Amino acid sequence: MPANLISGTRLSQELRVDIARRAALLTSRNRQPGLAVILVGEDPASQVYVRNKVKACADTGIRSVHETYAATLSQEALLARIDALNADPQIHGILVQMPLPRHIDPNAVIAAISPIKDVDGYSVASAGELLTGAPGFRPCTPYGCMKLIESTGMSLKGKHAVVIGRSNTVGKPMALLLLQANATVTICHSNTPDVGLHVRQADVVVAAVGRRNTVTADMVKPGAIVIDVGMNRDDAGKLCGDVDFEPVSAVAGAITPVPGGVGPMTITMLLVNTVEAAEAAEKKATP
Ligand code: NAP
Repeated sequence: MPANLISGTRLSQELRVDIARRAALLTSRNRQPGLAVILVGEDPASQVYVRNKVKACADTGIRSVHETYAATLSQEALLARIDALNADPQIHGILVQMPLPRHIDPNAVIAAISPIKDVDGYSVASAGELLTGAPGFRPCTPYGCMKLIESTGMSLKGKHAVVIGRSNTVGKPMALLLLQANATVTICHSNTPDVGLHVRQADVVVAAVGRRNTVTADMVKPGAIVIDVGMNRDDAGKLCGDVDFEPVSAVAGAITPVPGGVGPMTITMLLVNTVEAAEAAEKKATP
């Protein structure tokens, strides 16, 4: 039996109804959620991501301030701009699109964003909150993956989850979120001698590598949930994930497509974090 398709597009639509409702409530009290999106340089992929984020804000009633700077912008000038946005009460979230030009240190930029406006969840403060299980902003991509897994109705308690990839923005936070949901978690990376050995035992597989066909049908346990974070191009230039989709679909219990899986959820969780930041700001301002 072919796997159930876990549609990130559909789940996003459902979640965005609630986001729009919460944004409208805040707006009715003169507290419209505001997101600053900063793009430095002219990377075409980054331009598309930023455009999609700005559009998603408009669709859900979140005010977005889109700032584009030349690739020659100095780190000092960028940090000064972030400082100003940190102090702006109408801005609740600040997102600096990565990658940045090489002369700008991404860690310094992320560290400059106020933790209460870190809606990407990339700061050391947010990472510490995730590690300790404290409330805080969760990085949008793994947060979206968790919502996709939840939408299948399967409890992660006692299940074996295998994450392939250990980046700070996807793999590591993904593993921590799965652990918090009481899964037993294995993390594979480029030094793992036999990734398939681990994946074959997994009830849930999250592939976040950036290489097509990293997960093939012979590696997947029948009935497993497969979440494909990867974004690659096939020989025809078509967008594809890390998972060999058709054959794996014949074995898995449920699977996310690329496109239409994790991608839309990443943006949706950014909207969720922004609305939550605005709600928290209102709470703080109200005696
Ligand atoms: P990354 O920083 O390049 O990390 C890739 C990870 O994969 C690294 O931990 C690397 O291991 C591991 N890896 C590389 N080759 C491997 C192999 N042969 N076997 C096992 N592990 C291997 O990438 P990322 O930022 O995490 O992103 C991963 C993918 O997800 C990319 O395709 C990216 O475009 C995509 N992505 C999609 C979204 C979305 O919204 N859909 C969001 C973010 C990222 P080492 O640590 O040992 O090098």
